[in-house]
Amino acid sequence: MSVYTGRIIKGIGGFYYVDTADGVFECRARGVMRQKKITPLVGDIVEITVDDNLKTGAVERIEPRRNELIRPSVSNIDIMAVVAATANPRPNLYLLDKLIASAENMDITPLICFNKTDVDSGEELAEIYEKSGFDVLRLSAETGQNIELLKDKLKDKTTVFAGNSGVGKSSLLNMLFGEEIFETGQVSDRVERGKHTTRHSELKRLPFGGYIIDTPGFGSFDITLLEIDDLSSLFRDIEPFSYECRFRDCSHTVEAGCSVLQALRNGKIEQSRHENYCKLVQEIRDAQKWK
Ligand code: GDP
Ligand code: ZN
Repeated sequence: MSVYTGRIIKGIGGFYYVDTADGVFECRARGVMRQKKITPLVGDIVEITVDDNLKTGAVERIEPRRNELIRPSVSNIDIMAVVAATANPRPNLYLLDKLIASAENMDITPLICFNKTDVDSGEELAEIYEKSGFDVLRLSAETGQNIELLKDKLKDKTTVFAGNSGVGKSSLLNMLFGEEIFETGQVSDRVERGKHTTRHSELKRLPFGGYIIDTPGFGSFDITLLEIDDLSSLFRDIEPFSYECRFRDCSHTVEAGCSVLQALRNGKIEQSRHENYCKLVQEIRDAQKWK
């Protein structure tokens, strides 16, 4: 019997595939774990015991999870690569800011990626997010611009790619893996298939170290589950000014004398970021009306 620590990279029908220093082992969860209703998740860091003859194992223990995504159901994610195209399709900054807030809410580091710089350089877009305190990469899956920088950021991390379809997530992933693993440009086809088959997400090991969650097109979270009070803390550019705000229960959207609005007027917060923050406040309010 050997003991390993590893990462669950795939789960199918009660079997878990655990990536260790000695390769991948097929494992079952221990009966006691099932009794306690503890379900291992893809992404979990686990301790396993392996039968040296059969080369199959049992999951003995799950390390506490840093975070947990739903759809795809994966744990321990370090980075969310939030991808938008500089053009074709036009960047949707509302979706971008929503995804960023969702990432922050789960303690996942957002990495802002503007792809298709061969079509439009995206300098102004990048500036908005750099000024707001994010890591920003301007990329082209077409020309390979800054792909090495992207690799540096993702090395030894676990990353999920998020963003609208058509922005180039699959193309970027193929660049990272150095082979055509993901289908590109198959938008409608892919959506169609998604309806009929349940996709189990897997972690794919990057050739230079780290993992990618192989469900490109991770959409968005139900942001309406958040409280308005919590939203400003998910906007790292707005948060410091919200602490300065002297009003209790201020939404930082329209209140006269609000510190956030003052900072906005002084150019310390980007216009589009605050607009999208306000839209999200509204979205949460609308949702709560129905509760
Ligand atoms: P996904 O839906 O986000 O996975 O996007 P895809 O990777 O499938 O790309 C959508 C379309 O954009 C495809 O036709 C790609 O060839 C194209 N594309 C992807 N990246 C780039 C890029 O950097 N520049 C240009 N010009 N086209 C790109
Ligand atoms: Zn305020």
